Amino acid sequence: MVKTNTNKDLLKEKGFLSQRQEDFFSMRLHAAGGNLTSDYLRAVADAADRYGKGYVHVTSRQGIEIPFVHLDNTEAARNDMDSKDIGPGASGKKIRAVVACQGDRVCKRGLIDCQGICEEIDELYFAEPVPYKFKIAVTGCPASCLKVQENDFGIMGFCEPFFIEENCVMCRACEKACGSSAITIENGILYLNMNKCVSCGSCISACRKDAMQKQVQGFTIFVGGKVGKKPRMGDMLLRTENKDYVFDILEKTLEFYREDALEGERLGDVIDRCGIDKFGEKVK
Ligand code: SF4
Ligand code: SF4
Ligand code: SF4
Repeated sequence: MVKTNTNKDLLKEKGFLSQRQEDFFSMRLHAAGGNLTSDYLRAVADAADRYGKGYVHVTSRQGIEIPFVHLDNTEAARNDMDSKDIGPGASGKKIRAVVACQGDRVCKRGLIDCQGICEEIDELYFAEPVPYKFKIAVTGCPASCLKVQENDFGIMGFCEPFFIEENCVMCRACEKACGSSAITIENGILYLNMNKCVSCGSCISACRKDAMQKQVQGFTIFVGGKVGKKPRMGDMLLRTENKDYVFDILEKTLEFYREDALEGERLGDVIDRCGIDKFGEKVK
């Protein structure tokens, strides 16, 4: 029977997380962005029947775990998953699987291709070593269904409107569509308050007269968010129209984190200690 910490660490590397029940493990599987194919689901269902108790747990980060895999079955279960091209999920001091909403491929409000960005980031960085843990989220619009402000690095779609008065017929569709009260129409005059606008683009979709048009569309980057015992909301770092720049900022952020983090620090802790200005200087 293998019970040493070293072997538990090796098992953790392969995605097996110790349970409170001795010699049982929850088998974490790699899954990014919450889009799981039917082949993946069938393979996981078979494995849950064969090695677990016939059910899976869907994690808070869109991942899949098969609980109650006995120590004696861990090797067979991993080999089985390897043969279906399903790798182990990450835990410990690694970059975790990226979470993402359906974005503009499916959601009516989506402003960016969240799934495409998620796939690219996952391909580049999944399970890379970092000083502590590092979580990345991609969300299609300011509704932030994927809670980017709670992640170390968050990418959110944005779209700023531009009002063209001569096209407007004062139908109020944009006013109704705006959940932020940024548009008001009084005495035949439309007021667009950019201090209230969260750049969701809903007024542009609602307008049938091209009176609300796209001024600028792209990506808002948040850094340093986390939840847990010491929660911290991410800081809004910048907005850009350029997707390549988002990837440059992510690379620089990881460089900063690896160089400056002390033992056990998340990115938000490093930013608090060093200052957001120093962080901004290094990564922009
Ligand atoms: S964040 Fe926006 S795009 Fe993504 S699912 Fe929510 S509403 Fe849709
Ligand atoms: S972009 Fe969104 S928040 Fe801004 S004015 Fe239009 S509907 Fe309102
Ligand atoms: S939806 Fe378009 S046309 Fe209607 S009030 Fe708004 S800007 Fe004007």
